[in-house]
Amino acid sequence: MLKLTCEPITLDLRTTFRIAHGASDQRHNVIAHIGEGLGEAAAVAYYGETQSGIMQYLSSLAEQTWDPFQLEDIINSLPPGSKAARAAVDIALHDSWGKALGQPLYRLFGLNPGKIPQTSFTIAMDEPEIMAERARQSGLPIIKIKLGSPDDEAIVRAVRSATSAKLRVDANAGWTRAQAARLIPRLAQYDLEFVEQPLPAEDIEGLRWLRSQKLGAPIFADESAKNAREVAALAGAVDGIVVKLMKSGGIREAMRTIHTARALDMQIMLGCMVETSVGVTAAAHLGPLCDYVDLDGPLLIRNDPYQGVVYQGATMILPNGPGLGVVKKAA
Ligand code: MG
Repeated sequence: MLKLTCEPITLDLRTTFRIAHGASDQRHNVIAHIGEGLGEAAAVAYYGETQSGIMQYLSSLAEQTWDPFQLEDIINSLPPGSKAARAAVDIALHDSWGKALGQPLYRLFGLNPGKIPQTSFTIAMDEPEIMAERARQSGLPIIKIKLGSPDDEAIVRAVRSATSAKLRVDANAGWTRAQAARLIPRLAQYDLEFVEQPLPAEDIEGLRWLRSQKLGAPIFADESAKNAREVAALAGAVDGIVVKLMKSGGIREAMRTIHTARALDMQIMLGCMVETSVGVTAAAHLGPLCDYVDLDGPLLIRNDPYQGVVYQGATMILPNGPGLGVVKKAA
């Protein structure tokens, strides 16, 4: 009989991670174990998550026994509460499932691991010249720029002059409708793939209005699009959505969210929070279903205890081991 245990984990960021929601040098996540299966919960303050809240949620499940072949019923009957904790349970169960069958998840899903789009590399908010230098030093072909500061236009101009990489920007809900309508056409001059979450998460009508203005860059929803139900509510309001396991509550709901977006002719980017190779490799197994990928979590931290997906520049290579294929690094 499989049991669930959990442990707190502190991640040291390579550079201060400043976005429109706040700044941090460390993140406090939780690793879950169900039998041999590994899962991860990222404690993102913006979504009301804390490491202690996640630990509490998972500890409340300690007496339960788990059967990875009953994923659907288990996920649907989890108590309400921390989405990140539920994601950790879902990921650990998927890992156990793959291990029990001796196959990597992407094979069980029938997906071609060679079809994962290249990942972007995220540049957190800082002085425009510093952000430009980070983009240049990365040498990577797709850069995601965090915006939502008074310098947004100067930042995009500086990064564009430093690199010929594809650029996508993320305002993390940091603009008003008026700011977004003024800024997006100016930023679009620098050749953007899309603009992520320009408006507050609840302003769906604002997103719809902004998109109708045809400002020169596609509009993607992230904070407004946590699960399949929210994506359905965004029909016609955005060009694309960002799927993350920590918002959806795991792989299973992320898949439903992807299929819902497809049915509504939306494009899909697969993203992550600041996570170790456990959470990010879990997401990467869904990469072949998506149009864009922003899975740079392990590249942002210094002390990832796990080895999973391998980065060759911006190309992600999935491990071939069963389940997630993630292993603990040798100490
Ligand atoms: Mg985002």
